[in-house]
Amino acid sequence: MTAGTPKPLLPIAGRPFLDILIEEIARQGVRRFLLLAAFEADRIARFAAALPDRLGRRITVEVATEPAPAGTGGALAHARDRLDPVFFLFNGDSWFDQPLASLRAALARTPRALGVLALRRLSGAGRYGTVEMEGASVTAFRPAGGPQPGPCLVNAGVYLFRREMVSRCPAAGALEHDTLPGLAADGLLAGVSSDAYFIDIGVPEDYARAQHEIEARRRKPALFLDRDGVINEDRGYVATRDRFAFMPGAPEAIRDANEAGCYVFVVTNQAGIGHGYYGAADFHRLMDVIQDELLAVGGHIDDVRFCPDHPEAALEPYRRQSDWRKPAPGMILDLLRHWPVDAANSLMIGDRLSDIEAAAAAGIRGVLFQTGRLDDVLRPFLAGRPARLAGSAGGQP
Ligand SMILES: [Mg+2]
Repeated sequence: MTAGTPKPLLPIAGRPFLDILIEEIARQGVRRFLLLAAFEADRIARFAAALPDRLGRRITVEVATEPAPAGTGGALAHARDRLDPVFFLFNGDSWFDQPLASLRAALARTPRALGVLALRRLSGAGRYGTVEMEGASVTAFRPAGGPQPGPCLVNAGVYLFRREMVSRCPAAGALEHDTLPGLAADGLLAGVSSDAYFIDIGVPEDYARAQHEIEARRRKPALFLDRDGVINEDRGYVATRDRFAFMPGAPEAIRDANEAGCYVFVVTNQAGIGHGYYGAADFHRLMDVIQDELLAVGGHIDDVRFCPDHPEAALEPYRRQSDWRKPAPGMILDLLRHWPVDAANSLMIGDRLSDIEAAAAAGIRGVLFQTGRLDDVLRPFLAGRPARLAGSAGGQP
């Protein structure tokens, strides 16, 4: 299967694997992607060019092509001028469903570390090499095939690095063999471990399982949130940071829902665009600011739908009756089509009756939020859902 197709582009339930992997990363607040390619790089470049439109996301996807295959470490060294000061690195042929917030938190806790490695707990190493930890630090790597009868940790191929680490990558070589052991020996590598779902499509049996398991693992309840009056104070047509203020408990509620394993979606009427008070670009810019402020406290918004239309919009292109404008359910239905949502256990929170009507029309339970803190309103809904981050962010196996 891989004779003419790069492994990350192999189909999983009808989509290239990399579609799913990038969507999983992007929903957690990553907006810029750089694919490190060697084999079939032209095909990767065509894939990258079409990806933002296909996913319907405002992401950029660039490709760095090595002049000659240089290994995982060499690929990183070659791309060094195109990396952000802090960047995630993912293997392109495996998926570890460990929240990226746990890696961000671990790097923030260890200012001396040049990187954080996501580790999967296993009952036995099998075909994998293993990783030793002391406290939150990775101390050593053990090659595959050693005696590992008991519980152990394996490298899941998900990293958060500071760009300085690239100076330790040779022009040709494997990150796993030539760079990570030295970082660990120097005490510069932290780790977070968990039992989160892991699959490596580079193994034929796992590839077969991936066809049904990945979508099943991604099926989760969703928290749909109105924006103005729920996430932020409704001061009327809020479009700039200076007029934006979080509602009490809103960042905490979003982070709590993330940690409980729920999608968090925003569905917001934005007739201010139709009336010409501000543009769609202003809306997106403010949503990016909100996302960045949430990331700083360990939360994120997975996806957003907005409706700029209004029956009496000042601007003609937006003057229409839209089935996306609440109380119509179009925005919620579009998200339900796009994401594998467990609708029966999902919830919409809004500050107006039109929010609740939109939810009901989409078959989603609705709750009105008009006083108090948003996290207090959400708490009964999350009770009993596993707190995935709570058990995994400490770095202890
Ligand atoms: Mg509102």
